[in-house]
Order: sequence, then structure tokens, then C-alpha cells
Amino acid sequence: MTSLTSEENECVSKFVQYLQIPTVSSIPSKFQAAKCVAFLKAQAEELQLPFEVIELVPGWPLVLMTWVGTSPDAPSLLLNSHFDVVPAEDAKWHWDPFGAEIDEEGRIYARGTQDMKCVGIQYLCAIRRLKAMNYSPKRTMHLLYVPDEEIGGHKGMEPFVLTDKWKSLNVGFVLDEGLASPTEEHTVFYGERAAWWIKLVATGPAGHGSALIKGTATEKLWRVMSHFMERRAVEVSKLEEEGCMGYISDVTTINLTSMKAGVSSDGGETFATNVIPTVAQCGFDIRVTPKEDMAVFKEKVESWVNSQEGVECQWLQKNFDNKVSQLDSSCPEWVTFEKVLHQEGLTYRSAIFPAATDSRYIRALGIPCAGFSPMTKTPILLHDHDEFLSVPVYLKGIVLYERLLSALGDCLTA
Ligand code: ZN
Repeated sequence: MTSLTSEENECVSKFVQYLQIPTVSSIPSKFQAAKCVAFLKAQAEELQLPFEVIELVPGWPLVLMTWVGTSPDAPSLLLNSHFDVVPAEDAKWHWDPFGAEIDEEGRIYARGTQDMKCVGIQYLCAIRRLKAMNYSPKRTMHLLYVPDEEIGGHKGMEPFVLTDKWKSLNVGFVLDEGLASPTEEHTVFYGERAAWWIKLVATGPAGHGSALIKGTATEKLWRVMSHFMERRAVEVSKLEEEGCMGYISDVTTINLTSMKAGVSSDGGETFATNVIPTVAQCGFDIRVTPKEDMAVFKEKVESWVNSQEGVECQWLQKNFDNKVSQLDSSCPEWVTFEKVLHQEGLTYRSAIFPAATDSRYIRALGIPCAGFSPMTKTPILLHDHDEFLSVPVYLKGIVLYERLLSALGDCLTA
């Protein structure tokens, strides 16, 4: 790796320090939120940015920093990132997931390198550069660090967007997380699929396994399940037809993720094959693409369930109002964003995010949100073993954010 300037070294060092703080939101002993808040506070102080901790649920702090613009009444820009990460299976990693060690090729290995501590620090490093150039944005910029995106955002972004504090931020445009791109082309996300988690429970008569009893629980469940699986096959073929241009988020995915039935004598491991169970249940994880007419599809799902008496449907997770952002000529910030990419000689494609992010809570308010993590020529390793980001890609992202933030900061909307 080529040698770095002292500024670049400092940017890497800050990233490493941030990565070394375990912030696994699903494991209490590995969720060092207070340490993370202290680290972020030190960054804000260095940059002389007003700093605030917002705690809507005890133990789940949101961190807010603000760079006040010279036109403070203009709608602000929100630079969002989540500081929590998913767990890492230590045994499957070749590196300490919270060591942030750098190999000789300049790859930094740690949980959160891609998702998404990189972006959280890149925003700060870009602001440091802009301040050093004596740049002052016209529009106020807020940097928000949220604690629980990986477990649904129910203690972070979801309640936060309902507060008066949120309203007072007067947010007009949001940058949030995207994904790495294995090619030279960036990806910008303008929406995401809606998650529907459905549990089906069928009931029917008991009986001997040698009989032919009508309407058993398993038979009823199987009939309804087959509608879901037939539809799944249609989606699989849609994706295959598209060939290598097919993106998973352009189709609706349906996965049978759990099944339960059978009369057990020992609490679960051994089932009596000759006893007809009275209850059978299963779970589906469905991700509905915004390209699907959601109301029509919901009716379809309900008709599958209603076509069979004795089967009950429980919606464990639902989102029937899945808004996407119009990232086109109607959105001045997007026009600015696109122009910067163009000036930098960068290409991009617009896409639907395959999973759920906190952006959905912001898009639901009608505020445009671009999901963007500048990581080209990088394999997509979020939530994977040996997650890494290379130093040159990380540093390039800082320069790109510097250009983006200065252009967006000057982009005053009517
Ligand atoms: Zn993420």
C-alpha cells in the first residue's frame, strides 16, 4: 500500500477506533453504546459541531451533531448512519471482528467496516476537510447516529421521526446507507422492499395415521402453503428470465422459513408418525418489491388464506405503505448529487434496497432519501464473515463526500 498523508492516517485511525468499539445491538454484553457516544462526542468537539444525545428508550442513545448553515431556515440535510452492527461468529472469521486489523493489501477487517461505520466516519472526515477549506454550507447539516437499525429501529429512528425534535430539524433531504458494489459502478438506492412476515396456523381433527380423515390441519396448511410456493416459483422464473441483469430487489421474494406440526412424546425431537396432529403452522418471510401493486398482492395473499377454512393468518410484520423516493429531476438535491457523480467521472445505477433500512421511516414522511455507501470494486460483505473495506476505497469515499456535501450544502431549494 502506498504511504498515506497525515490527514489520511488520521481518517483511518478514527475509523479503526470506531470499529473497535463493540456495538452489537442484539447482544447486550457487546453493545457498548456509552463508549460509542463518548467517541462520537470527542469527534464533534474536535470539529466544533454542537452535539446532543437523544434517548427515547433508556440505554438506546441517538447522537445528533449539527453544522449550522448560513441559511439556517432552509430545509436541512440529514447525514444518517447507524452505529450498531450485527453479531459476528468469531470462529468463522480469520480476524478479530472488533480488532480492525489491516492486512498488507490495505484491507481493514471488522464488523461494521461496510455496514456502516465507514459512512459515519466518512461524513465527519469530509466535514473536517471542508472546514479546513473554510467552506460554510448554506444549508444546515445534521449528522445522526442511530443505535438499533439492525434490530428494526424501534428504539431509534422509528420513534424519533415522530418527535418534535425531529420536526425541529426541518429535514429536506437525507443521505443514508447503501451497499458495496463489486464493479466500478456505484449503486444509489431510492426505495426498499416491504417486509411481510406471515404466520399461518391450521387446525383440524385428530385421528389415527391409518385413516383418511378429511380436513386435517396439515392438509389445510399444505393447500394454503402451495399457493405461496407457486407464486414463489413465478418470482424465481422472473429473476432467471432477466438473466444476469436480474436484481433480487426487482422481484418479490417468498421464503418458507418455519414449519411446525406433529405430536411429540418427548418435547420435540421425536414425532408420532401414526398420530394426525390437530395443529400445523408455518412462517413465510415475504419481501414485496415496490414494482408490485401492493394492494393487489395483499388481496391475493388474503384470498389464498381465506380459500381454506380452518387456517388463520397472523401478520407478524407488515408494511402496506411502502414509499419510494423520486430521485429524478423533480428533486433538486438529487439533481445536484447526480451532477457531482458526473463531474467526478463516476457511474451509478439506481436500485431498490434488497432488505429493510431505517430509510423507510423517513420515506414514509415523504422526505427524499438516497441510500449511498461509496464502496466500489468491493465485494458485498455486510453481515458476512471477514467483512472488510480497503483503505483506498474508504479514503476515496471521503473525498467524494467532501464534493457531495459542499454541492448539497449550497443547493438551496425554492
Ligand atoms: Zn446497515
